[in-house]
Amino acid sequence: MYLKRLEIQGFKSFADKTSIDFENGITGVVGPNGSGKSNISDAIRWVLGEQSAKTLRGSKMEDVIFSGTSKRRPLGFGEVTLVLDNKNKEIPIDFSEVSVTRRVFRSGESEYYINKTSSRLKDVRELFMDTGVGTDGYSIIGQGKIEEILSTKSDDRRNLIEEAVGIVKYKTRKKESERKLEKTKDNLIRINDIADELF
Ligand code: ATP
Repeated sequence: MYLKRLEIQGFKSFADKTSIDFENGITGVVGPNGSGKSNISDAIRWVLGEQSAKTLRGSKMEDVIFSGTSKRRPLGFGEVTLVLDNKNKEIPIDFSEVSVTRRVFRSGESEYYINKTSSRLKDVRELFMDTGVGTDGYSIIGQGKIEEILSTKSDDRRNLIEEAVGIVKYKTRKKESERKLEKTKDNLIRINDIADELF
């Protein structure tokens, strides 16, 4: 699995539709200060479901939408599509290419699409669980991240290792099942209470 292409439109400084192709090997992005280099990695984080505006260097989610310049009006929505090569089926889906799209409107509402099919944030998260991709993954190492990993609490380091060995998916499912079990237990207690009252 590898990142093939990124399509950005109306996101931060990218007002016009911009497509970036990533070829084999290392890609370097160069440009003057403030030209939008970091906005590219912000776009990758964002499309994968980042919910923290602060992480994206803004104060609210609306800040990611192109806010206009002296020559250009602000736009009403921002959209990013990430295209991954999945020939090795590392992403558990039966497609050799996987695209994820996120669109946000000024109302703050986000829409997600997996291979152009409307999806939920949960679906996007599940798709990338244990692949190292994703907002909690280790595929994006920001400035200061290595230091943070080394100095962080052992529990937080453990999360990173668990993602790498591929058990996050099972832990998440276990948590979900435990939640459902708790809910079922509560329902049973209520049913028993009602039955006691009736008979
Ligand atoms: P540096 O080399 O200094 O780290 P950079 O190339 O990484 O800079 P970015 O931080 O990616 O640059 O981009 C900053 C630019 O993006 C600024 O000019 C800022 O005005 C612009 N920008 C950020 N958000 C928006 C937005 N919502 N609408 C329009 N422009 C935006």
